[in-house]
Amino acid sequence: MKLVISPIELKYEIEAVVKIFFPAERFDFLSEDDIRKGAFDNDIILVRKRSLGGKALLYVYADVDGKRARKVSSAAENSGERYCCEELSRLLYGVLNALTGIISEWGILTGVRPVKRVNAMIKEGLDKKEITDRLSGEYFVSAKKCALAFDTAASQERCLKEFEDEKDISLYISIPFCPSRCSYCSFISQSAAGDTVKKLIPKYIEELCEEIKYTAQITQRLGLRPKTVYFGGGTPTTLSAAQLVRIMKTIAENFDISGVSEYTIEAGRPDTVTAEKLHAIKENGCTRISVNPQTLDNSLLERIGRAHTVQQFYDAFELARAVGFETINTDIIAGLAGDSVEGFKKTVDGIIALRPNNITVHTLSIKRSSRINSSLEKNAALSQPAREMTDYASYALYEYGYKPYYLYRQKNMVDNLENIGWSEEGHESLYNIYIMEELQTIIALGAAASTKLVDRKNSRLKRVFNYKYPIDYDRNFRLMLDRKKEIENFYAEKE
Ligand code: SF4
Repeated sequence: MKLVISPIELKYEIEAVVKIFFPAERFDFLSEDDIRKGAFDNDIILVRKRSLGGKALLYVYADVDGKRARKVSSAAENSGERYCCEELSRLLYGVLNALTGIISEWGILTGVRPVKRVNAMIKEGLDKKEITDRLSGEYFVSAKKCALAFDTAASQERCLKEFEDEKDISLYISIPFCPSRCSYCSFISQSAAGDTVKKLIPKYIEELCEEIKYTAQITQRLGLRPKTVYFGGGTPTTLSAAQLVRIMKTIAENFDISGVSEYTIEAGRPDTVTAEKLHAIKENGCTRISVNPQTLDNSLLERIGRAHTVQQFYDAFELARAVGFETINTDIIAGLAGDSVEGFKKTVDGIIALRPNNITVHTLSIKRSSRINSSLEKNAALSQPAREMTDYASYALYEYGYKPYYLYRQKNMVDNLENIGWSEEGHESLYNIYIMEELQTIIALGAAASTKLVDRKNSRLKRVFNYKYPIDYDRNFRLMLDRKKEIENFYAEKE
């Protein structure tokens, strides 16, 4: 399919709206000159903003599968880029909806954080009805998603009442190793099954501990105190009990963790969970753990390369409960190739029956770097009735008293849906809210970690990136430590 976007600066937003309707499509980007030269015949979408007579003329035309539609609008010249881009997105949505019949429940909202928008409207003083009117009128969001976004914002308001201290931060520790690689994975996580990666781990832990010590000195100079700690990756429990304890002790000895109220370690892969590891992390302060089945269907687990069984998940979950963590989370995925609505319902019901404190419902997102980005698996996933699946999950979770408390969207999600964190009241993960709503500085350590510095008062946000792969993390280690000056510079500008 050909796309003509003029000016090309609008490419990112406009392409995101087109992808709602044609998620599997590859696009050729043409210029208006190419059109004048007749470099197309059909399957083309044209989106244009042009200044004429003191006005911005906005024009969308599409010719898809032999059907054509167009929409035109105008705006005052000084309406601003953002308004024009949104208006073009609305026209485009109308045109493509007319040609394909597809409806997106999030309308033209294609960004990662729809709840952030709702929180901003609440801050402006708008009530639920006004927010719903704006979301549905300006962005074409369905009534169901308006209610979901509003409920999520309400949970956050309840959880964040006490959070006001700008010196509070969170720590993120990246452990980019897994026992094997899942087919849908787009993380940099490396399979520790082979000797090459296994050999990297001891050196990685050495350097990670050095980075922890170095960074702790900076945060102490700045008077910053961790409020939450989060080990992600990868699967942190790929490491041995002794390795995990070494990292946890390094954190405890170098940061002031007396104010930490939530300490999460992801143990996503049940095949990495042992009683020794769980006891060790619990004794060293871990309060929240994540054990993830993704599905309760063995044949699907095999198809997605998870290398563990449903029974292994049940065993790991029961072990986590017996060890006595305050909060246990489980992740499941809607839209896996080979699943069915009935199959997914069984997974939802089976997980709810276990009564974990948190249930995170992901919708499959087809990332370029994942193995399922091959046409066969991709098409099988795209034809999944993910909307029906997630609707059932929401219905059942509300029924059993869970509430949505964080929500985010990714590119290329099946049915343009979302990931939702559900929680029993009082078990919401503060870390997940901080990171999704960009409310607190997250100091991130390890390969592929990205520190996010947040200055809420002045609406400033800055990222400081670490090197991605463990091998580059090692090669550029000193250079990376040097980059941490940016943390001090950021806080100096803030004062
Ligand atoms: S467990 Fe998670 S991080 Fe590890 S390979 Fe699977 S999807 Fe990727």
